[in-house]
Amino acid sequence: MPKRTGYVYDDIFLDHELERGHPESPFRLAALHAAVSESGLLAKLTCLSPLGDDALITGQIALVHSPEHIQRVLATGITGTVALRAVGAVLAAVDAVAGNERLVDNAFCAIRPPGHHAHNNVNKDGYGQGEGFCFFNNVAIGARYAQRQYGLGNILILDWDYHHGNGTEDVFYRDPTVFYFSTHRLNDYPGTGSPQRIGDGAGKGYNLNVPLPSPGDIFGRVTDDDLLAAFDNHLLPQLETTGFVPDMIFISAGFDSRKNDRLGNFSITDEGFSAITRRVMTLARTACEDRIVSVLEGGYNPEGLALATCAHLHALMESTEKLKMPW
Ligand SMILES: [Zn+2]
Repeated sequence: MPKRTGYVYDDIFLDHELERGHPESPFRLAALHAAVSESGLLAKLTCLSPLGDDALITGQIALVHSPEHIQRVLATGITGTVALRAVGAVLAAVDAVAGNERLVDNAFCAIRPPGHHAHNNVNKDGYGQGEGFCFFNNVAIGARYAQRQYGLGNILILDWDYHHGNGTEDVFYRDPTVFYFSTHRLNDYPGTGSPQRIGDGAGKGYNLNVPLPSPGDIFGRVTDDDLLAAFDNHLLPQLETTGFVPDMIFISAGFDSRKNDRLGNFSITDEGFSAITRRVMTLARTACEDRIVSVLEGGYNPEGLALATCAHLHALMESTEKLKMPW
């Protein structure tokens, strides 16, 4: 039986370190990969390698970031090399999911550094630390690559990281071909993510921020039901309203929204991540022949990150039904 789900990983992602003891550490990914291996999951996945063609990768990064930004990141040495390879991992996943031979139905990129805070242009605060531990916006670049390389017109990006993906929002704010949906804590880093930010110009209606907890929740807890309700009661109706039918779905899979995270304070469980994954898969089955590329963002409790990722991967390997959408 063909293996349904791709898994992109490389030991090079352990080589970048912001500073000793920093929560965005190599230990996160080491714990994740060990759990995927030791649980037996790895044998059931199609292992993929990041693209190695630096010129090709840099060319795709230039669709999102300024030449100045790219030069500054690459000049950081090993961090730049690792950040480049992280983008290469997402491009490899897009090739496997969107290419003619359809190597896999969907794929997960076990990579670092994360990407969704990385802006399209120079940030006066600097790089990495100044952009929420991010250097290149892995998912935004992957979305542009899928459009350019494979002619996929409409891309949906679904971001369940605890933090708002301000970089991704910025890149596509005026673009009606990329729909950005985010659940996040409003009053935390980076301070963006207001539900009033709905996109601009032709992109109006294609940016959807759903801060959690909802203003009516006096206890301020965020559970699995809140995350699933954001998908059911906000995302699906807005897709209907706008008539947006994705040709491919990216997930900014941040697991700092999981319970017991070092930086996040939501209470999403591993079962919750399974359930939201199944929701996304039914949408992908309905709209876009199962095409999903899921990309690791945050998640700062290595043990929790490993468990949540295994739950996410298990769900990605399941089969799904179609949704009843008006398209
Ligand atoms: Zn985060």
